[in-house]
Amino acid sequence: MTELTVVTTCKGRLHHLTESLPTLLGQTFRTDLRYRVVVVDYGCPQGAFDWCVSKFADERLTVVRVRDDVDRFNFSRARNIGAAFGSGLLAFLDADVLLPDGALQRAVSEMERLGLERLNHSRGVDAQGRPHIGGQFLIRSESFHALRGFCEGFREYGGEDIDLYRRSLAAGQSHGLIDLELRRIPHDDEERLRFVSSETKAESILRNREWLGQRGPVVNPDGYGLTEDFETSPNGLQPALVRPAPAACECKEPGWCERHRCAKTPHWHVLCRTRADYFALWEEGRGPGQKRIQQSTEPGLLRKAANFGKAVARHVADGGRKVSHQVLLARLEACKACPSCDTTRMVCRERSCGCFVTTKAAWRSERCPLGKWPKTAHTDES
Ligand code: SF4
Repeated sequence: MTELTVVTTCKGRLHHLTESLPTLLGQTFRTDLRYRVVVVDYGCPQGAFDWCVSKFADERLTVVRVRDDVDRFNFSRARNIGAAFGSGLLAFLDADVLLPDGALQRAVSEMERLGLERLNHSRGVDAQGRPHIGGQFLIRSESFHALRGFCEGFREYGGEDIDLYRRSLAAGQSHGLIDLELRRIPHDDEERLRFVSSETKAESILRNREWLGQRGPVVNPDGYGLTEDFETSPNGLQPALVRPAPAACECKEPGWCERHRCAKTPHWHVLCRTRADYFALWEEGRGPGQKRIQQSTEPGLLRKAANFGKAVARHVADGGRKVSHQVLLARLEACKACPSCDTTRMVCRERSCGCFVTTKAAWRSERCPLGKWPKTAHTDES
């Protein structure tokens, strides 16, 4: 049986939750899926906990009221606490997200079909053809905990979702894209910044970036999703507290390391256990074995430049035409599941390619060197 837990949080967003929670509880699923919704009331001044408990007698709903350290809104911590109640697949959705019926079933089916660890909601691409990734996504709980959750060092608005996304890519987790066809309830920056200390969004983002520059290699070294003062709704689950944050090598023997996604020789295993600098390299995805895999087949710079030059010529000859957004997403999905793709940089390591697939996949004139892109992709254009 597949399990899915949606995690959403609330601090001063009850007017959003009153609209979004019914769309979460109204989702329909196939019968063999076990579904739960966890709402984390993070010291919500509007009493989100009481509203949820009085309004819904739904066994699938667990409401958690956190009382400690809630003067400011630590969004990462709130989501991590919600995740501690979840199992199977975790879906992170903001309180202002309105989902159409069937959106989550579609996402679960897609993850199962492609064997993905993470599925990102994405509705568009930027000027370079890279998909927009935000804070709405599904992830397997073991993959989420392998990353030690959202970084709780982010205490301002924004950045924690992209940080987790990048760490997930760096760890080699398999990703996919989906348009959940969700709607956002419009609101302004004043609401976004109400429970952080910065007065502008730019200042808030800058502070979080400063924090990122100071962070060490281990995320949440003292643990994550921890709370000592909380209550749950009467029908609530108990959290799977507390997951310690591994700060050092935990492998008992050499061989395949799931955490660092590489095979460690006996010598590397000793280094990982005894040298903090080597351990940090593996944590950052730059350790021995990780790099070697990435470099094994990728063409050199000259060949890459020549390959890219030919691709540009084909693109120009094709009138600079691009494929539709759906085709682009389908192509990128194929790349992300492909062993030839360096998913950290989204570079195809095939000798006849070496291109950034986010650029190449957007061009109608391009083909996958291994023929892995969906066949319909060649005729569909924007
Ligand atoms: S272009 Fe083809 S071979 Fe290259 S990464 Fe994408 S799917 Fe794999």
